[in-house]
Amino acid sequence: MIEHFDVIVVGAGLSGISAGYHLQHNTPRKSYVILEGRASIGGTWDLFRYPGIRSDSDMYTLGYRFKPWREAKAIADGPSILKYVRDTAAEYGIDRKIRYRHMVKRARWSTADARWMVEAEQGESRDIVRYTCNFLFMCSGYYDYDSGYAPAFADQDKFAGLIIHPQHWPEDLDYAGKRIVVIGSGATAVTLVPELARKAGHVVMLQRSPTYVVSRPAEDAFANRLRRRLPARLAYAMTRWRNVLLGMHFFRLARKYPDRVKAEILRLAQKELGADYDVATHFNPRYNPWDQRLCLVPDSDLFASLNAGDASVVTDQIDRFTPGGILLRSGKELAADIIVTATGLKMLFLAGLEVSVDGQRIDFPATLTYKGMMYSDVPNLASAFGYTNASWTLKCDLTCEYVCRLLNHMDRHGFAACTPRLKNAEVDVEPWLDFTSGYVQRALHALPRQGTKVPWKMHQNYARDLIALRFGRVDDGVMEFSRVAARQEEEAALLS
Ligand SMILES: Cc1cc2nc3c(=O)[nH]c(=O)nc-3n(C[C@H](O)[C@H](O)[C@H](O)COP(=O)(O)OP(=O)(O)OC[C@H]3O[C@@H](n4cnc5c(N)ncnc54)[C@H](O)[C@@H]3O)c2cc1C
Repeated sequence: MIEHFDVIVVGAGLSGISAGYHLQHNTPRKSYVILEGRASIGGTWDLFRYPGIRSDSDMYTLGYRFKPWREAKAIADGPSILKYVRDTAAEYGIDRKIRYRHMVKRARWSTADARWMVEAEQGESRDIVRYTCNFLFMCSGYYDYDSGYAPAFADQDKFAGLIIHPQHWPEDLDYAGKRIVVIGSGATAVTLVPELARKAGHVVMLQRSPTYVVSRPAEDAFANRLRRRLPARLAYAMTRWRNVLLGMHFFRLARKYPDRVKAEILRLAQKELGADYDVATHFNPRYNPWDQRLCLVPDSDLFASLNAGDASVVTDQIDRFTPGGILLRSGKELAADIIVTATGLKMLFLAGLEVSVDGQRIDFPATLTYKGMMYSDVPNLASAFGYTNASWTLKCDLTCEYVCRLLNHMDRHGFAACTPRLKNAEVDVEPWLDFTSGYVQRALHALPRQGTKVPWKMHQNYARDLIALRFGRVDDGVMEFSRVAARQEEEAALLS
């Protein structure tokens, strides 16, 4: 007998737990289960174990709208975020809905039954388990859990030391006194460098090209003051809105006046590092602010380790690895005991899920995203994706709310299926994301696309999405609602 649920949520990370909360709260009569491929909760915040792992957004916006963040630090470390996710799941009994070691592989939609047949591989044996559901909610994140992006460097095998990717950090690695080269300049590299530099002999951040790096206080004095004076929920809501609006304001400024914003970021870096430091080479990217995510560093920690001489930045290209380190195109050689390849993630759309509708395999790059959460001609399936220019959870919470509104609308009107349909609408098409980061560019060919107008356009704008998703019409003329085929036939027979 195949077990049936109204909703199957895939993934027990930040998004999957938000989905559980919203389903319980907004659609209390619906049955749901969370299928999680790994043996633990938390997703990203459980997987990544490298030293210093932390958020680079503030927790007032990365936290859930419904669960105040009560720690003093706004830029939080990985274990605190994991605890927050676990505590939320336990507080609302969502943890009891999770089935671990269920790696979802396939989903087949039958229009006749208005149901998904979902197949997962269970445990080590990878035995196939099947479930059916009416609605499939993918909260599986955006990258490949098995491996990170690791370009092959020439003569990599000749290096006599240790090569580590941050996605697979060895638990017992002793790096005290070691010479470490961290390849990369993204969020992971700028997190790792100051943390490793506390114990290592010396750390070099080796970058091909720079990233914008901005310091921000780890603790938000405004938030902590408010929390002391006001009830936790009110203080949290106020800080959350303040940070959302500040983030949107800064993003708009960066778009409108890129040269001025760029000059200001470089001025701040120069102030941190002193007049003699070569900011123009090491902290002056080729792109404009917010064409890629800015790197935030808490309490200037990266700049402090550079000033102390515990770490340094080298902007150059790798020629090849040598037994003792890395030979650069400039001819310089960097000596290393350990090389950390902070070269990024491999983006993976919907966890690589094989999706078919009435026996027809869905080719997602040929679909358009609807409201940034559903896909043209794919019924009863939504996915949680965050913003590129703000905290992930802001969009994820709105998506969860909207999915519940959709489910309630269908219940009220006796519908079994909802499918975004392009029909004959003329919509110009754009790439899914307008973002120049390497991991996005490498994956664009495998991603759906977006349209140039609503509801096919993604705005990367919380305020706009909030109005559209919390208050906008569910029955918007684009979403097609239908009943189960058998019931439709009965109704047609009655009418004839
Ligand atoms: C190092 C790092 C730092 C980050 N910092 C920030 C930040 O500061 N701010 C921000 O906004 N974003 C940040 N992000 C993005 C971050 O991933 C999101 O903020 C958020 O954690 C995503 O939550 P999620 O639940 O959607 O996905 P994930 O955390 O990736 O969780 C997905 C879950 O789904 C499970 N899963 C995947 N595929 C399957 C399958 N086929 N079957 C069953 N289960 C499956 C996974 O095992 C995992 O548990 C960061 C990402 C990384 C890697």
